[in-house]
Amino acid sequence: MKEFYQLSATEVKRELNGYEEPLTSDDVEKHKEKYGANELAEEKKKGTLAVFLEQFKDFLVVILIFSAIVSGFLGDGESAAVILVVITINAVLGTVQTKKAEQSLAGLKKLSGPEAKVLRGEAVVLLPTREITVGDIVLLEAGDYVPADGRIIENASLKIDESALTGESVGVDKTSDVIEEEVPLGDRKNMVFSGSFVTYGRGSFVVTGIGMGTEVGKIAGLLKTTSEKKTPLQVSLDQFGQKLSIIILVFCGILFGISVFRGQDIGNAFLFAVALAVAAIPEALSSIVTIVLSFGTQKMAKEHAIIRKLQAVEGLGSVSVICSDKTGTLTQNKMTVEDYYVEGRRIRAAAIDVEDRAQNQLLTYSILCNDSTNVDGVELGDPTETALINLGSTLHREAKEIREKYPRLSEIPFDSDRKLMSTLHKLDGKYIMVVKGAVDVLLGRMTAIQKQGAVCAVTEEEIEKIVAQNEAFSQEGLRVLAFAYKEMPQAADKAYEPGQKDGRLALEDEKELTFLGLIAMMDPPREESKAAVEECIRAGIKPIMITGDHKVTASAIARRIGILKDDSEACEGADIESLTDEELKDFVEGISVYARVSPEHKIRIVRAWQEKGNIVSMTGDGVNDAPALKQADIGVAMGITGTEVSKDAAAMVLTDDNFATIIKAVENGRNVYRNIKNAIQFLLSGNFGAILTVLYASIAGLPVPFAPVHLLFINLLTDSLPAIALGVEPHTSRVMEEKPRPVNESILTRDFLIKIGTEGLVIACTTTAGFLIGYRQGGGALGSTFAFGTLCLSRLVHGFNCKSERPVVFTKRFFNNLYLIGAFVIGFALITAVLTVPALNGIFKVVTLRMPQMMTVYGLAVMNLLVIQVLKWFRRFNRR
Ligand code: ATP
Repeated sequence: MKEFYQLSATEVKRELNGYEEPLTSDDVEKHKEKYGANELAEEKKKGTLAVFLEQFKDFLVVILIFSAIVSGFLGDGESAAVILVVITINAVLGTVQTKKAEQSLAGLKKLSGPEAKVLRGEAVVLLPTREITVGDIVLLEAGDYVPADGRIIENASLKIDESALTGESVGVDKTSDVIEEEVPLGDRKNMVFSGSFVTYGRGSFVVTGIGMGTEVGKIAGLLKTTSEKKTPLQVSLDQFGQKLSIIILVFCGILFGISVFRGQDIGNAFLFAVALAVAAIPEALSSIVTIVLSFGTQKMAKEHAIIRKLQAVEGLGSVSVICSDKTGTLTQNKMTVEDYYVEGRRIRAAAIDVEDRAQNQLLTYSILCNDSTNVDGVELGDPTETALINLGSTLHREAKEIREKYPRLSEIPFDSDRKLMSTLHKLDGKYIMVVKGAVDVLLGRMTAIQKQGAVCAVTEEEIEKIVAQNEAFSQEGLRVLAFAYKEMPQAADKAYEPGQKDGRLALEDEKELTFLGLIAMMDPPREESKAAVEECIRAGIKPIMITGDHKVTASAIARRIGILKDDSEACEGADIESLTDEELKDFVEGISVYARVSPEHKIRIVRAWQEKGNIVSMTGDGVNDAPALKQADIGVAMGITGTEVSKDAAAMVLTDDNFATIIKAVENGRNVYRNIKNAIQFLLSGNFGAILTVLYASIAGLPVPFAPVHLLFINLLTDSLPAIALGVEPHTSRVMEEKPRPVNESILTRDFLIKIGTEGLVIACTTTAGFLIGYRQGGGALGSTFAFGTLCLSRLVHGFNCKSERPVVFTKRFFNNLYLIGAFVIGFALITAVLTVPALNGIFKVVTLRMPQMMTVYGLAVMNLLVIQVLKWFRRFNRR
């Protein structure tokens, strides 16, 4: 039997579907049932039970289980049971959090999942690639991932990077012709393979294999779900946690030795040392970061920024330079044609006369040399081109009609390096190549001009007139395209008919052109751009516009939205070509607008800023932008107009293509970082308070202030909820008043550690006071009850201290985090029950407190709140 590549595309369609048209909706369903979804089987995810069991692998938990067993042997069954219950509850909490974080990340992946353009019925629809089935007709253009294996139907200079399959990254030229003989995979030039991507050109193919049936499915077998790499913050906290754990373990070991030396019971001394270690070691640090990051990404997704790499959330807080595209990101990308310039006259779009030969010709050419469509109001394609067909359709005839009358015989697709696009048509018996593109590029390739229908040699004067007109349009912020054409030599007559290979347009043909006219389009800035730029500057971030458009147009728009203050801050891509990397580093400092930039320039600009110690965010949409997006610290792709390849390379995808969304994301990033910092401050200062209290008692020769179960109760139950609640503290825009966080600044700065130290000291003071009051009133047991109650409540109250650097009591802010209030209420209810319900007393090794005693404990906890708030006030006052 013949393979698909040995059949014509029509035969393939017939064999798979029984007919040549796109799949009917009935057959789509049938095929989906028969072939399944277009996806590679994933490695099995860990089940809930496995995640739950993993919680017990933690070193500390193992020690705790061991100590529960020791307690049991020592005849203290109650303690053993409590420890086990607490560990189990803690593991359940851990499992729920891990699963939630996993789900939210999986949700994000789905949101930014790949899509493809598929012909279903009459229309082209954008579908998630998993929906594609065998027999479907898929359209391809530069920047698309090939979503399935298939036989090429239409091939317009398609070049495909098949490195995912072959390791060879040079683009492969494709064909739509039948290959008769049997050839290996790499030579099946009329086939495309899933996982490769289009680097150039346009085309379509009929799907022959999906999911596990594709070549890549056969090789790869399973899609390895790459586990999320830890973010720099997680890594540094892990390292810090490890060091701290060792110190604490040594400390607890010494304490254990002293207790035994003093003649205490070995079993109890051991249990205590373990409990203190658990209370002091901040084992939750890394997981809090994961949870807060995943909550942060959910919020960002709702605000149109989808995070693809978790590191980006942290990085966003340090961004100090944002390089943004103009078209569509800073502007609305809703283009409308404003003016025409043809045969030496400027004509308003509304005044175009279709009866005029030259105007009619320009209108027709703008529809022919154009890939966009507008079917019943549904626009598909580049807005620059859609603007052209919209005008053509209203004034003249439907684009479809014109395109059917003069079909495209060959083409050289647009690319942003060349800044040109050419198509070949048979018009009035002649083969005409229509070229459109950037005015400066086209001027360099024209030798003639059309006047009163005749082709004449172009004069210097005429060129100057065109340049002046282009300047005038650009000054008004209009985007200008030039149109030219060339009659292709008659000798090649037959060769240009469809199917004639040698009749293809080649790059060398784009010269000796005849100038026809200019079309100027308006693309107004987005309304929110100006405010976003202002906010960006206020936040200490430099906004930079990088565009392929003309310098004057770019400057006009940049000035309007506040990026450009002085004309000397604008330059062209060509200006940086002659600079060495060293010179470029000085040069970039004074530039806010780069015009006529090609993708390679983008990489150099990013690198220059990075070498100056900046964290750079860069937007991009084209296939050639992928390297710059990867080079940037935060590569940002456009969700609407971006190519699949650019989205894949980016750390963040904007679902609304809007510059303002990047600024919002920076604000979110800064807030997330601040919340993580607050949660860490909460955990570490509380732990430190507990250690200091124990240390004091041990130095003062007093009994140990806590029973092991107290520390476990606080650390594993009443402490984790406020920490998470602090992580989801409502965001404020005040973070945008600060400068970007220095890149290599560790989260644990000296200032931060001092704050943790002082607040820990305050907690230790109130707890020790409670301990001493209780000890004086009724000895060790009452003292320990007081200490436990005060520490537990002080830490709950301390959650409110950690909300902000500023004092928050007596402000609305105090109540704005319902989760924190909820965490407080739960903790408060638990500890009050433990201290006052006699049935619970035995289990938690406390004595029942009477009302006045309870009041003392509450009072001490509140004191802790007040003292730290006053300290905050002082600190602020001092700083001012
Ligand atoms: P930005 O980089 O801000 O998105 P841009 O859309 O102008 O701006 P490119 O898409 O790289 O950047 O386009 C570069 C230039 O190529 C444009 O200024 C225009 O002159 C020309 N151009 C853009 N689109 C087309 C097209 N479809 N056909 C022909 N020429 C085009």
